[in-house]
Amino acid sequence: MCLKVKLVLATRNPHKAREFAVLLAPHTVDPLPPEIELPPETGLTFAENALGKARAAAAAIGRPVIADDSGIESAALGGAPGVRSARFAGEDATDEENLALLLERAPAGSALAYVCALAFVDAAGGEERVFEGRCTGRLAADPRGDGGFGYDPAFVPDDRDDSRTMAELSVAEKDAISHRGRAAAELLAWLPAGSGGPSH
Ligand code: IMP
Repeated sequence: MCLKVKLVLATRNPHKAREFAVLLAPHTVDPLPPEIELPPETGLTFAENALGKARAAAAAIGRPVIADDSGIESAALGGAPGVRSARFAGEDATDEENLALLLERAPAGSALAYVCALAFVDAAGGEERVFEGRCTGRLAADPRGDGGFGYDPAFVPDDRDDSRTMAELSVAEKDAISHRGRAAAELLAWLPAGSGGPSH
């Protein structure tokens, strides 16, 4: 028996909402009500930022909430941009500007890792968990592909034996190996499936 949990996803990113809805089926992933404010991502770790967003939304809504914080780490840049991935090229930088800066600063073929911390907070039950997923890869020489978002056109995952970038993979191919896919699989394994997991 699989108990279905009704979760709220604390994000304003439509790409993430789409990815998590697929990854966490058969559980339901509802959007964050527009009036709920999320705290700024000022933490030093992905886990801190994910927990901050999930706690704020769970306290405001009174339902089980999930929130993620994710980014890309470049070995050649000492782990940067990391938690600053969305703001790498400046506070209001676009995905294209951030991608261009990574391609400018890091050498083609250098090691990368996508990291995702996925926090679960149930304000009612007081339960808090963080699940982490990683996906390693290499920097492409030039951006390729129209799928995905962010740094995907320059990220060649190690888990595949072709040289397609994340932006050239199908949605199912990306979900099977991505950092978000792996963190979601950990959460799925923990959510109730007839025994164990949270009591909601
Ligand atoms: P945040 O988790 O909303 O703070 O966003 C982190 C940033 O990391 C995004 O704006 C993207 O630039 C990057 N990022 C996170 N996940 C992915 C992904 O799956 N593909 C490409 N870029 C990603």
